[in-house]
Amino acid sequence: MVRNRRANHSPRGGGRRFVVHEHAARRLHYDFRLEADGVLKSWAVPRGPSANPRDKRLAIRTEDHPLEYADFEGTIPEGQYGAGTVTIWDAGTYDNLTKDNAGTEIPVAEATERGHLAVFLHGHELIGGYALTRIGPPGGRERWLLVKEADRYADRTNDPLRSKPESVRPGRLNDEPTPSTG
Ligand code: MN
Repeated sequence: MVRNRRANHSPRGGGRRFVVHEHAARRLHYDFRLEADGVLKSWAVPRGPSANPRDKRLAIRTEDHPLEYADFEGTIPEGQYGAGTVTIWDAGTYDNLTKDNAGTEIPVAEATERGHLAVFLHGHELIGGYALTRIGPPGGRERWLLVKEADRYADRTNDPLRSKPESVRPGRLNDEPTPSTG
């Protein structure tokens, strides 16, 4: 029952995909995922992304997920890690804006290892520049901050998580086995 959302989120301009999963696990959080090198680089964001550049949202790096997982919605059964309901909160494409001091683009996978990346999101809820910066030691469950860039798409008043109350609620989807969690 994995829904294919590609019809609704057709990539523009050859950009790579991003997805934000709303994950109603033991603790509700949002999984921010960027396609890079054929996988989804992933961070768990307890409070979710903000459109306000003043909000610094903690983002815990989690394991890379298979690219196909970008389309996943469903329920991770009790007893498995991440048990709970996963829905797609937002999805679209992104452009990599990460550059070195000489202005040369740093590929996202490499930038993720280096500890800083800048992306421009073309989503439905999330639009504009976002920066991800590692604030703790590399390795394991790294601590990062996800921050909206102060561009024309920044919004200091609108909280996209609160302005979209129609998100699918836990319990509305049928149980199904899933090969991957997190
Ligand atoms: Mn998760």
